[in-house]
Amino acid sequence: MNNNLKILSDTSKKSKSNDLCCVFSNGKLLVKKDGTTLVIPTFDNIKFLNIEYETEFFLGKIGEKSCFAIESTSELNLPINFNLMDLYDLGSLLDEQSFLISGRASQILNWDKTHRFCGKCGSKTENKKDEMAKICPNCNHIMYPVICPAIIVAVTKDDKILLAHNNGFKDNMYGLIAGFVEAGEDLNSAVKREIFEEIGIKVKNIEYYRSSPWPFPNSLMIGFFAEYESGQIKVDGSEIKQADWFTKDNFPNIPKKFTIARSLINEFSKRNQ
Ligand SMILES: [Zn+2]
Repeated sequence: MNNNLKILSDTSKKSKSNDLCCVFSNGKLLVKKDGTTLVIPTFDNIKFLNIEYETEFFLGKIGEKSCFAIESTSELNLPINFNLMDLYDLGSLLDEQSFLISGRASQILNWDKTHRFCGKCGSKTENKKDEMAKICPNCNHIMYPVICPAIIVAVTKDDKILLAHNNGFKDNMYGLIAGFVEAGEDLNSAVKREIFEEIGIKVKNIEYYRSSPWPFPNSLMIGFFAEYESGQIKVDGSEIKQADWFTKDNFPNIPKKFTIARSLINEFSKRNQ
């Protein structure tokens, strides 16, 4: 599905006028209305806005089009066919590749903002010339973009799937169990630990499904299926408020189409036809 998207980190590459430009301003992405769809603008498209910025980061390519990220340091006065929007809301509005490259843009720009100073000695860092990294000119400490791995699991029991309502979910939405991988932990152990901590059950036959970047703000979600083994559902009360088994015909409100949670739930439905 993402065959046309290539993540690249050639730090010497400079933008051209017809390259795509992910502009972020106060945490929001600049999008252009193209008929009824929203698209990432080209540098040409936004020239008239005279956007001020410090650095452009090359992100990769969608098909033959190179794509860059910039953080606007000026106030933007937008005409009617341009809009600044939350990246999360754009998950269902942009095409998949544009959303993925925008997520990469958001992660790189956040990393750029939060790594201006060396964590070891406090000196001002510089962008490394030969790779996507920052280097401290004083102590040579190197800082790469931060990616936090997290597991997300579709737990199944016969023809049912475990869906849980997390305190942070809006609209009484039910999703899957997810959590960050601890330092020193492997993925299978993370799957078992998170499910036991949050729901109080044990699982078996853990099967890797697929992974997906989750740029809110910098995760990589690694999706699994797992089968119920033993125990009774007992929610932790703090993170998870409610959890239950659902068949594919009686789903509550579930996560949106662009999420890996939805992709796992859809795969569950397919396997239970
Ligand atoms: Zn340093």
